[in-house]
Amino acid sequence: FIGSQAVDRKVDSVCPFCGVGCLITYNVKDEKIVSVDGRDGPANHSRLCVKGRFGFDYAHHPQRLTKPLIRKPGVPKGFDDAPRPGDWSEAFREASWEEALALAAGQLKGLRDTHGPKALAGFGSAKGSNEEAYLFQKLVRTGFGSNNVDHCTRLCHASSVAALLEGVGSGAVSNQVNDVDHAELIFIIGSNPTANHPVAATWMKNAARRGAKIVLADPRRTDISKHAWRTLQFKADTDVAMLNALIHAVIDEGLVDEAFVRDRASNFEALRDNVKGYSPEAMAPICGVPAETLREVARAFATAKGAMVLWGMGISQHVHGTDNARCLIALVTVTGQIGKPGSGLHPLRGQNNVQGASDAGLIPMMFPNYQRVDNAAAHAWFEEFWGMPLDEKPGYTVVEIMHKALAPDDDPHKVRGMYIMGENPAMSDPDLNHARHALASLEHLVVQDIFMTETAWLADVVLPASAWPEKTGTVSNTDRMVQLGKRALDPPGDARPDLWIIQQIARRMGLAWNYEGEESGVAAVYDEMRQAMHAAISGITWERLQRESSVTYPCLSADDPGQPTVFIDRFPTADGRVKLVPADIIPADERPDADYPFVLITGRQLEHWHTGSMTRRATVLDALEPMATASMHQADLDAMGLAPGDVITIRSRRGEVAIHVRRDDGTPHGAVFVPFAYYEAAANLMTNAALDPFGKIPEFKYCAVRIERGGQP
Ligand code: SF4
Repeated sequence: FIGSQAVDRKVDSVCPFCGVGCLITYNVKDEKIVSVDGRDGPANHSRLCVKGRFGFDYAHHPQRLTKPLIRKPGVPKGFDDAPRPGDWSEAFREASWEEALALAAGQLKGLRDTHGPKALAGFGSAKGSNEEAYLFQKLVRTGFGSNNVDHCTRLCHASSVAALLEGVGSGAVSNQVNDVDHAELIFIIGSNPTANHPVAATWMKNAARRGAKIVLADPRRTDISKHAWRTLQFKADTDVAMLNALIHAVIDEGLVDEAFVRDRASNFEALRDNVKGYSPEAMAPICGVPAETLREVARAFATAKGAMVLWGMGISQHVHGTDNARCLIALVTVTGQIGKPGSGLHPLRGQNNVQGASDAGLIPMMFPNYQRVDNAAAHAWFEEFWGMPLDEKPGYTVVEIMHKALAPDDDPHKVRGMYIMGENPAMSDPDLNHARHALASLEHLVVQDIFMTETAWLADVVLPASAWPEKTGTVSNTDRMVQLGKRALDPPGDARPDLWIIQQIARRMGLAWNYEGEESGVAAVYDEMRQAMHAAISGITWERLQRESSVTYPCLSADDPGQPTVFIDRFPTADGRVKLVPADIIPADERPDADYPFVLITGRQLEHWHTGSMTRRATVLDALEPMATASMHQADLDAMGLAPGDVITIRSRRGEVAIHVRRDDGTPHGAVFVPFAYYEAAANLMTNAALDPFGKIPEFKYCAVRIERGGQP
């Protein structure tokens, strides 16, 4: 522990990992972060998990990029003989900023001018600030000339957002996490909060201690089940069957909130007719949960004074992810469990700023604040606001852009050049062999990052960026809180703030941008973004954030405290009502068969964050979980003659990994769980790129694999 007397300065910021958005203080000595304290923020009340408390020294890692890099002539792009992170000198040479920027922007501009705006695409990042997300999407829309801009929300909650926008008119949460304090029943589905939103999980556990009933519904029996009143370990891929059975039971047992449905919902009759065939008795053999348990949970949910639904990627990352979320919307609506404290819908956001990046317009179909690019009024407003003609067609999404990079040469929408800021699709995309091939096939790839990530390894130009502690900016957490982080350190070497780099690219592509000054430039971008998002954050000024650190939106005036609970009187839909959308069972794109008899489930783990580029370079976190492991049930280990620690090879139709196995009896029989943070056993080599048709999210949570003993990890 470094006491306050021992440090040179203390700087207030926000944890850079998950969407809970814990406020922190960096303790800095000799220009290094030496420890992190939890601050008394509204989302964390000074609590931190292991990542927030110990995952800070990645910023000082010797592998930080400190110079712009340019690929050496003739060095092929590929992974066959890729050196491990940190050893890039065979493939790249150092360059000046002027040379690297001229090459990066010049090539992108040349592709745009030769092949048209659709030849370019950009991936921004949910790891950056709101200001960076806003400026990046503005660059793609006004500088590249299309809406081909996306980020990892496409891999995260895109299907949840599609269902929420369709159903309740807003993609954000209705109630904040610590509102579970007012709930009698907390329904957690497709989420592993003790690992992925650990501080949020503490609110749930506290609520259970004071008597709230936790229902965990998940194919994996994860740690929060120790605190659960009921655990519904349903069969993977049967979400719609189970949720429709709950809705059926509510209707069948006369527990519908008739007044709420009459006054605030539409299309109830269609929903009621659709779930007639989904009785708990009929669905029990399909989803694997006894009918009486389904009825018991439905009764408890409907009759609770407050029942809140929190969900994660287990709901969203399916080809039926939007249908899964539609069922959750229907469940809270027919029971009247929304629009009041201790109830409602909460898709737990993954990345620290995936909410804010989406709000800021870092998505191909929406301008800032979810105004559709193909809406004539919104389109005209932004053309005037930015003073540029804009494309009126939605752009391609993450996985679609990868397909377009491999399109035939005569495809007028072939993507030929990309600018990727802070994302690592060469690890995070599904079917990695395909994604890596697509990235390597680009005529020009510019990657801006703090490390030589797997994606940067495929770049033509690599631009060294700033880590979060080296920047001032805002991020928006899962609770709709806009929160301010302050710069604690200078970037190392010639690394630069991302906002500066975006502007340098923009200027070289013909945009006369000038958001000058270290903090005043950030404030100027924030203020412009606030105007673009006036219907959500007009009351959250830069000055107010300096004073308050965290303000919840919607917040429309200086004296508006923000609205932690929304939809109290009406929903922001055209008619003010929830639109109920019936859903039917759609099977996973790839089911197990004789050749590939196991189900692969991918996800995160407590100690590591996403593709591991930060946490695997954080000393304590890497020491806690230094290597990839796959989790299997004891019965499956026994059947294969395996013991924990043995090596297995997992193969899908797309790729394979060799990996050590560990026992986890919460993993269902016939399934294997693999975290996706490890480059040496990249889980996404095996995953399936099949998409949900509405959210365009890949099916990370289900594909068929076979497992063999042995292999070379
Ligand atoms: Fe950071 Fe999330 Fe942990 Fe809070 S719960 S400390 S935001 S990783």
